[in-house]
Amino acid sequence: MEGGKQRSDRHASDASPVNPLGPLTFCVPPRHLYVHVPFCARRCSYCDFSIAVRREVPVADYIDGIRRELEMCALGQANVAMRLELDTLYLGGGTPSRLGGAGVADLISTIRSHATWSDAAEVTIEANPDDVTAESARAWRGAGVNRVSLGAQTFSPPALAWMHRTHDAEQIGAAVTHLREAGIAQLSLDLIFALPPEVERDWRDDLARVLALRPDHISLYGLTVEPRTPLGHWRERGEVSETPDTRYESDFLLAHDTLGAAGYEHYEVSNYALPGARARHNSSYWQHVPYAAIGPAAHRFDGERRSWNVGPYAEWLHKLRLGVDPTESDELLTPADVESERTYIGLRTLDGLVLTEELRLHTTRWREEGWATIVDGRLRLTPLGWLRLDALAVDLTHAGSR
Ligand code: SF4
Repeated sequence: MEGGKQRSDRHASDASPVNPLGPLTFCVPPRHLYVHVPFCARRCSYCDFSIAVRREVPVADYIDGIRRELEMCALGQANVAMRLELDTLYLGGGTPSRLGGAGVADLISTIRSHATWSDAAEVTIEANPDDVTAESARAWRGAGVNRVSLGAQTFSPPALAWMHRTHDAEQIGAAVTHLREAGIAQLSLDLIFALPPEVERDWRDDLARVLALRPDHISLYGLTVEPRTPLGHWRERGEVSETPDTRYESDFLLAHDTLGAAGYEHYEVSNYALPGARARHNSSYWQHVPYAAIGPAAHRFDGERRSWNVGPYAEWLHKLRLGVDPTESDELLTPADVESERTYIGLRTLDGLVLTEELRLHTTRWREEGWATIVDGRLRLTPLGWLRLDALAVDLTHAGSR
């Protein structure tokens, strides 16, 4: 799924006092709101996000919690002390589509009582294909949703079963049809690549099948093995092998070539878009602008400080019902932190970075190796560079701090 995800283990051992500096004070009012909806039918084999596995989703309780958090924000008692005027709203998770048609409509109507946005705003919901019916798609569109990020992951039945996904391959195409018939034209499909060699999956076929559906946006994520996930346990027990680096690289480069040839711009290391279809909400993260966030485990940023809510759903709701700010903690970014994040984010995107002459010289070898180019005075990583993103970002940050 797309960005905005909140890792369940983030800052788990952080002993700093709760929200020591009080609610974030936005110098620039945030134009972007992320709402974390934590519910999933079961945990996918690779997932370590902050989720609440529920057979029955407690829709009314969850929306009551969101209403309380928004009210606290409006009173200046919690994380966002202002009324929001939004350019983008992103319902992420978890699986927001598990709220159903009426649940999503109720959630958006609750948010609308504390925020305004125009028809030009981007309103995205993450959905699993098996939650998309003609009825739910119509209800989401009626509530103002105009973009859906669909967690397809693969079209291969054995790979879907290995991932513990709840949908089958046919439901992906059916979901796309329902969403388009309901009038939701902006669609993003997520796929996962670099699966271990023993998993039956034809990456070239998956790319062809996603192209046949012609979504205007595609997100591709390389599989990572996180501890405390089913996949992490399989790895510990030796039941699954490491994905070789060569598989990661060949999958990444095949996607770049295939999607590029089909007219998609590879505008961020994990994201592709048809012209004019870049994800506006996630682009706000990559532009380092302030954003607000509510819901369990939600992270927000005011330009200098980041704060985040408690992760477990029950704890988040309990605090709100006691009238207590659900913020777990925060961190103030130092100028060095900000510079390092700007470098990393800049290298992630096709927009790249403006460099000093000294750093331009420092990256001469990158250009000789084919890892980067200079376009309109900005340093841009190539796909070969993106395969080395972390190491290059660390190298450039160190060079810039000398
Ligand atoms: S549906 Fe998404 S959030 Fe839920 S368990 Fe699967 S990957 Fe994680």
